[in-house]
Amino acid sequence: MSRVAVVGAGPAGIYAAEHLSTVHGYQVDVFDALPVPFGLVRYGVAPDHFSIRSVRDKLTDTFESPLVRFRGNVHIGTDVSTAELASWYDAVMYTYGASADRALGIPGEVSPASIPATEFVKWYTGHPDAQDFGELLRTSEQVIVIGLGNVAVDVTRLLVKSIVELRATDMPDHVLDSFEKSAVRHVHVVGRRGPQHATFTTKELKELGELEGVEVILDPRDLPADDAIASSGSKVVERNLKVMRQWSQGHGESHGEVLNASSKKIEFHFYSTPQSFDSKQRSLIVERMQLSSDNTVMGTGTYESIPADIVIRSVGYRGLPLEGLPFNDRMNVIPSHEGKVEGLSETYVAGWIKRGPSGIIGTNKKDAVASVESLATDLNERHSVAIDSQEIDEILHARGVKYIDFEGWKRINAAEIALGASKDRARTTIHEREKLIEIGLS
Ligand SMILES: Cc1cc2nc3c(=O)[nH]c(=O)nc-3n(C[C@H](O)[C@H](O)[C@H](O)COP(=O)(O)OP(=O)(O)OC[C@H]3O[C@@H](n4cnc5c(N)ncnc54)[C@H](O)[C@@H]3O)c2cc1C
Repeated sequence: MSRVAVVGAGPAGIYAAEHLSTVHGYQVDVFDALPVPFGLVRYGVAPDHFSIRSVRDKLTDTFESPLVRFRGNVHIGTDVSTAELASWYDAVMYTYGASADRALGIPGEVSPASIPATEFVKWYTGHPDAQDFGELLRTSEQVIVIGLGNVAVDVTRLLVKSIVELRATDMPDHVLDSFEKSAVRHVHVVGRRGPQHATFTTKELKELGELEGVEVILDPRDLPADDAIASSGSKVVERNLKVMRQWSQGHGESHGEVLNASSKKIEFHFYSTPQSFDSKQRSLIVERMQLSSDNTVMGTGTYESIPADIVIRSVGYRGLPLEGLPFNDRMNVIPSHEGKVEGLSETYVAGWIKRGPSGIIGTNKKDAVASVESLATDLNERHSVAIDSQEIDEILHARGVKYIDFEGWKRINAAEIALGASKDRARTTIHEREKLIEIGLS
């Protein structure tokens, strides 16, 4: 029986494993550098988006198959090389995502008070490698979120959401405690383009206006004169503009209630390009932009200062190279054709490291299936050369790699549910790597 290694247990890797095992009957080992599976479904999707996070229940089913093994806490590139994987398996599929942040390239960007959204998201979802931003939140009133996409919306919402609602999530206890003590009152969402160019989805955008005790502020002059022309046929843009137009009209109100001084604020600053961040003066300087006739934006030479105790840069995720594999530095992806990695045999890609950070979770399914079909076509023409699964585990043991299998994940899952129950919560994420490994191996 042919054996395939999948590197990365995020949606792309798990969808690939599902298709490899159920449709083609291959044995599949899914490796992940983290002790737990699910990639950004666990460490990206906002903790208060319960139904989206529950996708992991469906993804779990794949590991119930006797053909699929989970090998967590195994870093490909450090614990095992790409060359070794190629020699151990009939084929390898890389689905290791795009976890790095993008830089803005402005003065002052490198400062403890300037945080990439990638790191902030890691922190509130309980990623084992996250920094702690609790102290920063306790001492900061004004936060700037740079970016006009859904990740910026997630970060903004969580910064002002009530603690009662946050308690219903699976955030780790120390994160919940930090949000409870947070001094944040005013979140400024800053983007260089206009409302019609933003990539928010309407459901996520609308949620901002439904938050209890939160006022949404938007300058009506930033809205296009004609929504139909500005949306150029996009239903999402049209719906977004409708939501924002309502906000601009209901300025000063939230939930129909007149706001009082204790309200928190979300303020949009469209057409504002960040120029520099001064953490001592606690301000972000932006240049005001204007829309030109060809629908692009250009600088006006007018500058403004926005108060900023913290700046969170949400300007995109980026893939990283892995030794032994080709890499496209411009697109930050592994170059491939129909899922087959350029210049290498029996090596395939799927998910964000194949196409870049775009699309929803479901997009990775179609993408993974297409790559698996390429793999299967090639594999049918070869006979099996792989070493057996027992030998691979023995090699990992001999190297001192403490891998977590699917039974180990089930123990971690049960421990997180039990930890949550002890504090009247449905679940509490365990964030310490050593603890996850200890439970996983117990
Ligand atoms: C903040 C955020 C919020 C999002 N919210 C939503 C949402 O609400 N709805 C939605 O549909 N989509 C959402 N998405 C998008 C969705 O999460 C992605 O489409 C999806 O996770 C990409 O899947 P992937 O498998 O390619 O990568 P990932 O999910 O990133 O999985 C990659 C896996 O590879 C592992 N890995 C990395 N390097 C190595 C290595 N060297 N060795 C072994 N393993 C490795 C990682 O640990 C990770 O588990 C969100 C994304 C982000 C960033």
